[in-house]
Amino acid sequence: MLAVADYEVDCPHAESPGFDSPVSFLWNPVFLHWSWFLVAVFEISNHSRRYSSLMWNVLEYLTLFLIVTLHEFGHALACRQVGGTANQIVLWPLGGVAYVNPPQRPGATLWSIVAGPLVNVVLLPVLFVLGTLSRRLGWAESVPDVHALLRAVWFMNVGLLIFNLLPIYPLDGGQILRSLLWFVMGRGRSLMVAASIGLAGIAGFIILALWLHSVWFAMLAAFMLMNCWGGLRQAQALLRFAKLPRGDGFVCPHCKASQPLGNLWKCGHCGQAFDTFETEAQCPHCEALFAATQCLDCGALRPLSEWPVSGLVATKV
Ligand SMILES: [Zn+2]
Ligand SMILES: [Zn+2]
Ligand SMILES: [Zn+2]
Repeated sequence: MLAVADYEVDCPHAESPGFDSPVSFLWNPVFLHWSWFLVAVFEISNHSRRYSSLMWNVLEYLTLFLIVTLHEFGHALACRQVGGTANQIVLWPLGGVAYVNPPQRPGATLWSIVAGPLVNVVLLPVLFVLGTLSRRLGWAESVPDVHALLRAVWFMNVGLLIFNLLPIYPLDGGQILRSLLWFVMGRGRSLMVAASIGLAGIAGFIILALWLHSVWFAMLAAFMLMNCWGGLRQAQALLRFAKLPRGDGFVCPHCKASQPLGNLWKCGHCGQAFDTFETEAQCPHCEALFAATQCLDCGALRPLSEWPVSGLVATKV
C-alpha cells in the first residue's frame, strides 16, 4: 500500500522578507500532480488479486485519494475559519498537500492542523458501522468485493490517521507538537524544537526504508527531510526576526504588534525588498502600488490606511 502523508506549508514571509499578496480564492482548487496517473496505473495493475475484477482495485485507489482529499479539506476549511488563507490542494502519489497559511497564532495554527486528522477520526464510526453491517448481512459471501473494499478502506483510514499523527515534523503530529510548544516557548523556538525532533524521526524513517528496501519509504523520507530542513531554516529566520529593532511607528490593526524597521517587505512584481511604511506601500524600484500591506507578525493583510501609528510618528499626524 502507498504511504500517504500531507504537509502544510507555512507562509514564507519570515524566511524571506514579507510580501504583499492580494490573492484570495473563494474555493480550493484541487490539482492532481501528473505523476499521480503513472503511479495509479502501476499500483492498480500490480495489485494483489483481492478482488474479482480490476475495477475494484481502481475503486480502492480512488477511495484512498478521496479520503486524503477530505483530510486536506479539513485543514483548508479550518484554516479559513480562523481567518487564514488556503488556496490550493495538490494530490500526488505520496499524499496530499494543503497549502494553508493560518494567522500566525498558536491557537489558530493548532486548529488548522488538528482539523485534518479529525476528518479521519470522524470517518472511524462511519466505516465501523458499514463494516458491521457488511458482517451482519453476510456480504463476505454474497458480495465479496464490497466486503473486501470496506475492509481495505477501514485499514487505509486507520493507517492514515496513525501515520499522520506521528510526532515527526512536517507530519501533522509534528506540527501539532509545534503548535502546543508555541504556547509556552514562542513561535521561533517551538519550530526549532519540533523540527529537530522531526529530523531524528526522519533518520529513523531512512533506516526503516533501507531495512525494508522500500522505494516508497525512501521517497517519503526524502520529501519529509526537505520540508523539515525548510522548517529548521524558517525557525532560524524567525529567531533572527524576533531580535530586529522595532521603533515607534505603524501598528498592525489585527495583532497590534509594532512592525520592525527596515527593508523587510518584498515586492511581488520585481522581487526587491523595501520598507512599505516608508514608501506608503509603493515599491521604490518598479513603482508597483499595493492595495494591502502584510503584518510580518500575524500575516494579516490590511490597507495601509487602516494601520494606526503610535508614539513619535503619531504626534506628527
Ligand atoms: Zn494533514
Ligand atoms: Zn499583525
Ligand atoms: Zn517592485
